[in-house]
Amino acid sequence: MPTLDAEVLVIGGGSTGTGVARDAAMRGFRTVLVERYGISDGTTRRYHGLLHSGGRYVVSDPEAARECIQENRILRRILPHGLDDTGGFFVLAPGDDPAFVARFLAAARECGLPVEEVPPAQALKEEPALNPRIEHCFWVADGVGYGYVATSATARSAADHGATILPHLAVVELIIENSGVRGAVCRNERGETVTITADVTVNASGPLAGKIAALAGIDLPLVPGKGTMVSVDHIPLRTVLNRCRYPTDGDIIVPKRGEAIVGTTDIQIDDPDQYGVTGAEIEQMLQAGEALLPGYSVSPTLRAWAGVRPLFPATGGVSEGHPRSVTRTHALLDHAHRDGVGNLITITGGKWTTHRLMAEQTVDLVCRKMGVSRPCRTHLEVVTDEMFESR
Ligand SMILES: Cc1cc2nc3c(=O)[nH]c(=O)nc-3n(C[C@H](O)[C@H](O)[C@H](O)COP(=O)(O)OP(=O)(O)OC[C@H]3O[C@@H](n4cnc5c(N)ncnc54)[C@H](O)[C@@H]3O)c2cc1C
Repeated sequence: MPTLDAEVLVIGGGSTGTGVARDAAMRGFRTVLVERYGISDGTTRRYHGLLHSGGRYVVSDPEAARECIQENRILRRILPHGLDDTGGFFVLAPGDDPAFVARFLAAARECGLPVEEVPPAQALKEEPALNPRIEHCFWVADGVGYGYVATSATARSAADHGATILPHLAVVELIIENSGVRGAVCRNERGETVTITADVTVNASGPLAGKIAALAGIDLPLVPGKGTMVSVDHIPLRTVLNRCRYPTDGDIIVPKRGEAIVGTTDIQIDDPDQYGVTGAEIEQMLQAGEALLPGYSVSPTLRAWAGVRPLFPATGGVSEGHPRSVTRTHALLDHAHRDGVGNLITITGGKWTTHRLMAEQTVDLVCRKMGVSRPCRTHLEVVTDEMFESR
């Protein structure tokens, strides 16, 4: 049985795990990342694709909004090849509560979110497919993120900084010694086993984080929230569209390389590995698209898919019994303090937009656990990607 020895073992090759691996490697830690499938094969490949300006959360979740505002600026600098700078509109569509506009603007000011009012006639000139019955329109710095491109580039950059990236290798067991995790036993698709010993193990397995924690006997009450998205063709759209209302289902349309993608639902499910998309969800999303882009529901449907949010309720339960009520900020858990299990950290929740910040805070905690002080540089260094540059 082959054995590897790491200072930091990262479980999960999504945006969070690759971000942690890159940051840890840049700070000089001998780092190994394992991913059960291919890089970015989890939620990160199935998300909606919005580089959040923060606008969506200014009223409902100001902490998440502030994180998005900060990270939006940083990702534009360090990951320009993983983004489209589309800008975004928040519009008051027919039926939306006009009183929300004042709340949105006050909360945006409070959070420091740049907002510009756009006269509806001007918005329609820029986006002729937009519903002509909108009453207000505000520009924000939304963009479009390409999760797979960005995450693959981050993984390659981590490897360039010395990390060992091992896709198609699943953690099947955590090695427990003296009340602490000392790495993991992993298995590939041929049934071969690899043992990886590590000083610190980071659980960045997204909606599967509860299953990894359970291997160390830890109960992690994650709320897997399924989001369904639908994309249609033949609607000219260049700007992200958001309903100017309290966040609910189907109020964002993201333009992505010719597709207009509406999303999402938010449905609590039992098993993050067992879910599908129903006809009712597709119909719900198509109708939601109509409010912003009339004719959306009769445009050629390209695809419908779902992803699962790894939401962690800070209070330990879901208030109001719905995943939408769980904060969109992340949770960084030191299981030595929380559960008496040493050398294990879980980083979960959050957004694709905030993955770099999540990684920074995780590796700061790794440094504290290892008793070293090594500053983060990921906000300063562009994720260079030779594959992208050679195209
Ligand atoms: C429907 C939906 C829409 C979203 N839209 C947006 C958006 O527009 N903008 C935004 O910023 N954010 C969005 N998000 C949030 C964002 O997608 C997630 O926060 C982010 O992608 C989570 O990344 P992750 O790396 O934590 O998880 P994942 O991408 O799921 O990565 C975890 C990885 O761990 C691996 N893994 C699991 N178990 C094991 C094991 N035993 N061994 C090895 N590997 C394992 C999995 O295969 C997976 O690849 C959305 C989320 C959803 C669900």
